[in-house]
Amino acid sequence: MQRSRATKILATLGPASSTEAVIESLARAGADVFRLNFSHGSHADHAARHAAVRAVEAKVGRPLGILIDLQGPKLRVGAFSNGKESLEQGQEFCFDCRNDAGDRTRVYLPHPEIFEALQPGHHLLVDDGKLRFKVLTVSDQAIKTEVLVSGVISDRKGVSVPEASLSIAALSKKDRDDLEFGLSLGVDWVALSFVQRAQDVIGARSLIKGRAAVMAKIEKPQAVENIASIIEVVDAIMVARGDLGVEMPPEDVPLVQKRLVRLSRDAGKPVVVATQMLESMISTPTPTRAEASDVATAVYDGADAVMLSAESASGAFPVDAVSMMARIIRRTEADPLQRQLMNAVAAQHSANPTDAIGAAIHTVSDVLPIGAAVTYTSSGATALRISRVRPRSPILSLTPNVEVARRLALAWGVSSRLSAGAHSIEDIVAIASEAAQVEGLCESGRPLVVAAGVPFGKPGSTNLMRIVWPSELDADSTDSAVSKTSTAGASS
Ligand code: PGA
Ligand code: MN
Repeated sequence: MQRSRATKILATLGPASSTEAVIESLARAGADVFRLNFSHGSHADHAARHAAVRAVEAKVGRPLGILIDLQGPKLRVGAFSNGKESLEQGQEFCFDCRNDAGDRTRVYLPHPEIFEALQPGHHLLVDDGKLRFKVLTVSDQAIKTEVLVSGVISDRKGVSVPEASLSIAALSKKDRDDLEFGLSLGVDWVALSFVQRAQDVIGARSLIKGRAAVMAKIEKPQAVENIASIIEVVDAIMVARGDLGVEMPPEDVPLVQKRLVRLSRDAGKPVVVATQMLESMISTPTPTRAEASDVATAVYDGADAVMLSAESASGAFPVDAVSMMARIIRRTEADPLQRQLMNAVAAQHSANPTDAIGAAIHTVSDVLPIGAAVTYTSSGATALRISRVRPRSPILSLTPNVEVARRLALAWGVSSRLSAGAHSIEDIVAIASEAAQVEGLCESGRPLVVAAGVPFGKPGSTNLMRIVWPSELDADSTDSAVSKTSTAGASS
């Protein structure tokens, strides 16, 4: 399979993308990681989608990542008897403690903390701020409001109260149940919503215990303030622009996005740009020009991945949305200006051998057109460190661990291949060269650049870079089985 694309695609699964057939189409169209959004759907729904992704992975023959997204302390209204209601500017509307279906005059709000914290004159925003309410009176039973903007309110839409500070735990009881359930299925990434500080991540890690990598969704102004300490303790971040843009003015979102992408890239932690990227493709088969430009901007900035939410989860064109995203990414990555802009944010190197080798690979890939940069990684750390320098070639990551291969599906430029039997640099070269041919990664005739550690097999010992020409492989006379496959690959 040709993987001529470095920026990855994270596609959310939902009612429009639950069957194995649709998920297979999404993967073939280019989805690299699939998001199970625990704000919606039952455990049975998520288990079925999880099983479908694993079945599709076996068919398409490349590792696919699965990310569970915990709802976090997100405030939401309850449901309506008609699913939704139209509200008029100026009318009264009540948020109350009655756990039954809402109508045109009221809805259930299952968060006592809000009743405690709100005061008359405060604002209450619903559905990413599309609906705005001004608080008239508050009791412990009901919040009476005036509707400030007409619009449609529907089941379980998000609520925010920008003027009030709420004392809410980072993980709700539902989150802890969802987390255990997700981990029992076996997932690669856990995304934490509404993180405010590093401690929120550390707390979640103590529950996850290494069973999945951890992504912090940056969607609170508090998280932006604490970003340096958060990035230190996570494995990846998401620029979660939906909620970020509710609690912060829209004009602040672009620069926060640029800053977050830069900081995360510098730390060598994958960064995902999310929300409304191809929003209009929820209902139309083509995006707006502005949306195409938004996806391209994330690619120019060198983000690791771009995300689809409702576009792939509940829209009318889930597969077209993924194909469109892949087309925009390819087109943008082919623009020479993309590399220039991406390189304008050059990572600072740490004084260690892995970063020294990373810097060397970056330079070699500029000087000599190479087929692929190859790493052999048991934890994924070396592959991420090489990905961090954004070399001008695919990164082929050989790993004995399927979990590592799946996690790396999110990382810029990394293609993983499972490979247990490498015991020497020669083995790596042979396996890599065969894999590079099979994956269609490598333009034939181009050399591979291999990063490895000697003595071999000791983790964290990357200290060697070797340039290997295809012609060397023909002459190689190491382990016969390995050299046979490599010779066949090299000459095909
Ligand atoms: P959500 O997170 O889709 O779970 O709300 C992403 C965002 O807020 O942008
Ligand atoms: Mn959000």
